[in-house]
Order: sequence, then C-alpha cells, then structure tokens
Amino acid sequence: MKRFTPLSLFGPSATLPRDGTKEWDAVLRCHRCSGRFTIRNLPLKRIALVPQVAACPHCTARSSAGVKKLHQIIDLRKAKD
Ligand SMILES: [Zn+2]
Repeated sequence: MKRFTPLSLFGPSATLPRDGTKEWDAVLRCHRCSGRFTIRNLPLKRIALVPQVAACPHCTARSSAGVKKLHQIIDLRKAKD
C-alpha cells in the first residue's frame, strides 16, 4: 500500500486535477493510546490540520502542539464518492 504524507501532496510533482475538490480519508494513529481511527471526506487543505485538531474516539485525546504530541497520519486515500 502506498503511503502519502501531506507535504508530498503539495510538492512540485503533485498533480491536483481540480484543486481542493477531491476529498480524502485519513487514517490516524492516536499519540496516547495508539488506537487507529479514520477521518472521512477531508478536503485536501484540511489534511495537514487534522492531526492537530482531531480528538481520538478511543481515549478522547487531542493533540497538544505545545508538547509536540500529534496524532500520526498512517494512511491517506482518496475518498470514494
Ligand atoms: Zn487515543
């Protein structure tokens, strides 16, 4: 399975057919309990933000940027219509 990072999506080689119209499913891993959860139908520009604002459904942990604890994006795929 191919893995993406949000930054690579904005790289020079990225091809975005219609900017911002595609939505994505992001699979995150909680920084506290390591539980996985999926955030669905994200617009491209929100992907980088999600690990900072999403609350873990398992333990309700939120990221705290101050102590550099962020949920990790472990997979990213195009959302199906
Ligand atoms: Zn958690």
